[in-house]
Amino acid sequence: MTPAAYAILNLDAVQHNLSKVRSCAPDAKVMAVIKANGYGHGLLRIAVALQHVDAFAVARVDEGIRLRKAGFKNRIAVLEGFTCAEELDELLHYQLDAVVHSLTQLEIFEAEVKSGACAVWLKLDSGMNRLGFKAKEFDAAYQRLSQCALIKQPINLMTHFACADDFNDDRTPKQIRLFNKTVAGYSGERSMANSAGILGWEQSLSDWVRPGIMLYGISPFPDSVGWQLGLRPVMELHSRLISVKQIEVGDTVGYGGGWTCEVPTTLGIVAIGYGDGYPRYAKDGTPVLVNGQRVPLIGRVSMDMITVDLKTQAHAKPGDPVTLWGEDLPVEEVAHWADTIPYTLVCGVTQRVQLVEKTLRT
Ligand SMILES: *Cc1c(COP(=O)(O)O)cnc(C)c1O
Repeated sequence: MTPAAYAILNLDAVQHNLSKVRSCAPDAKVMAVIKANGYGHGLLRIAVALQHVDAFAVARVDEGIRLRKAGFKNRIAVLEGFTCAEELDELLHYQLDAVVHSLTQLEIFEAEVKSGACAVWLKLDSGMNRLGFKAKEFDAAYQRLSQCALIKQPINLMTHFACADDFNDDRTPKQIRLFNKTVAGYSGERSMANSAGILGWEQSLSDWVRPGIMLYGISPFPDSVGWQLGLRPVMELHSRLISVKQIEVGDTVGYGGGWTCEVPTTLGIVAIGYGDGYPRYAKDGTPVLVNGQRVPLIGRVSMDMITVDLKTQAHAKPGDPVTLWGEDLPVEEVAHWADTIPYTLVCGVTQRVQLVEKTLRT
């Protein structure tokens, strides 16, 4: 018996989305971002699907170690770098590239007695104000790193965009200009673009691009969905109806009784809830597919169930298939209804949901 809630992962769509990256950035090397368990799709599964990329990027050292232990030989960059000497030792041992963004890290490098050849990405904070050295500190950091015997030369150079998902925001061109100006004259390879940069800001393409969300077939922009950009969604989230019932005028539905029935209504109960990663704040009206047809969510999302209005589905019965997101119902749209971004929805699918790989397309 298959569990009620399951996600299908279309791994051939990952390949398709990677070819979209390559067509947008034909001269760049690709560092595929597979942090946070491959954006919820499964770290190792996504790494296999992307095994021919030039490098992987993960957020944390432990994610890089998991890839190495599974046998991946690709270059792997750790976007948060390391925070203590022990973590640096692990980076060296597992041959992971370190992103260097703080004075603390420089001090740890300088105090390290082990030898090695640690590849690094020196990060400029060009306006995100999260990780990185400010432009005025950058050369000093570069010079100090250059003195460390441990570090593989040349030092690679990177920055990250804060607002690239908004085509009208002039902070992105400012970040690009500041990065180009700051790293002019250094010999290392350069990397700026995330998915929004790759798809929306040609000036941000450089030696390396760092696509994340687009590899999973999801638009990085708030006003478009993947297929409009030539992407194919990788994840589909499915469940089934477990009950169908009639409710009367004046009845309320779910916790808090927040939805009141105004005309006699057929109600469907679906086995999916925030305990599976379906968003708790999805509003009344959020589309759900029952037997492939759109129906609106009504009432509050609970841990294990949601309720939908089956007015347009006279013949729906328990056991009928339900899709929460997928090819015909973009996760971007569901995210919009839940006042969130699609990144949180795919990352948030929980352990209870069985992940089923689909690779063959005949
Ligand atoms: C997560 C991340 C990316 C990928 O961003 P997407 O919007 O998913 O393409 C690229 N670079 C850095 C530094 C990141 O943290």
